[in-house]
Amino acid sequence: MTDVDDAQLEALVAAAEEGVALDGLIVTDEGGENGEGGEDREDGEDGKDGEDREDGVGDRYTFATGSDTHAGLDEAGLGRVAAQNPWYVSNWYYWEAIERPPAERAFLRWLEDADERDVPDRYEAMAEGRLAASWGQLHVTIRLGEHGHRVYTVRHAEDADREPEALEVHTDPRDAREIATFDDRGRYRPLKTAPTLPTGWAFVDLDGRALAETVGFVYPATVANWYRERRGELDVSHWRETMARQTGIYGVVETWDRGEGHEHVNWVAEACCVDSQCLKRREWAYDEETPLEVDGGDGAFPCREPCSLVVSAARTWTTLEGEEPRTYEFELTPSEKEQLEAIVDAVADGRTDDIREADFSDGANRYRARFLRAKRFDDEGDLCGVATDEWDGAEGADGADGADEADGADG
Ligand code: SF4
Repeated sequence: MTDVDDAQLEALVAAAEEGVALDGLIVTDEGGENGEGGEDREDGEDGKDGEDREDGVGDRYTFATGSDTHAGLDEAGLGRVAAQNPWYVSNWYYWEAIERPPAERAFLRWLEDADERDVPDRYEAMAEGRLAASWGQLHVTIRLGEHGHRVYTVRHAEDADREPEALEVHTDPRDAREIATFDDRGRYRPLKTAPTLPTGWAFVDLDGRALAETVGFVYPATVANWYRERRGELDVSHWRETMARQTGIYGVVETWDRGEGHEHVNWVAEACCVDSQCLKRREWAYDEETPLEVDGGDGAFPCREPCSLVVSAARTWTTLEGEEPRTYEFELTPSEKEQLEAIVDAVADGRTDDIREADFSDGANRYRARFLRAKRFDDEGDLCGVATDEWDGAEGADGADGADEADGADG
């Protein structure tokens, strides 16, 4: 293999003076400016290379990849050995000679598992189209471009087996912002990290920068927070301190914490933050000393504070939870009671659209629900004709429309 790019080789030689060490490639300039290199010249490498020596600066490079070491090389010899190892050279160039923000570089390397897989393993996988990773619901494939440059393709994980050409193809990362705005049914997605990303599109021919931008439009700030967490620098803001910061109409949420315990925050986390509802891994707790009992999830990227969707929902719950319980008496058959439970479950799990119209065994079946309403609701819409007691906070609760108020929920 002799297709080392001249510019990459030139950059490698220039970098050798400081020393190169990346992913198994080591290049050193032992002679340096005093020209003392060459003493470790290896057989077969020093022949005519020595003729290129100028002013005592030749025969000074060592080029090593794993167990393969070439020492005592002059610049021409370094070029020859580098040409025999183009993957190592281009890999070094891709990661070290192209300027990138540190978080972006770490993310791109994580995608190809660069800290665990050696260069030949990754290059073979890229050449064969086998290198892929996921980020939330994104499926990212990494192919080998010219001179070791990576070419990224992104699509929905559910489309991983479909050719990009069979999808709606995009090349401009900014298109991802609109794609991520609505789900497959055209409903607005207030929480960008909800597992409701629509399918049917692909971003192709992306370089590293464009890939990072695309991911940023789909899942804002997730790479930055993931990187901060890796470096032990994630600044977590727990429930109490986040709620204490709320002002205006949201300031009321802080009052919810005045009672005993923090069970209400567990309910919030179970309602909004578990993996089925949000792909972030919740790292915030009630406060620094008080973890929640609800699992934080397994997502690749962390959640550092209650988001605006949660704050908005919490405002509604703060009002509703201010009510005192009352005792009502309803007359239901056992099956009707179970049916009400099934309906709550189906709505909470977002399953209502999946229940077949003819599946009368499911309590949340539309016809069964309509039958129950026809039988048990009166003309006022009261269950079993039992009126709801008046309570002071009714208007406040109705006014808190979480879906609209939680725009930009990821903050
Ligand atoms: S608070 Fe974090 S984990 Fe919970 S729903 Fe919002 S973004 Fe997701």
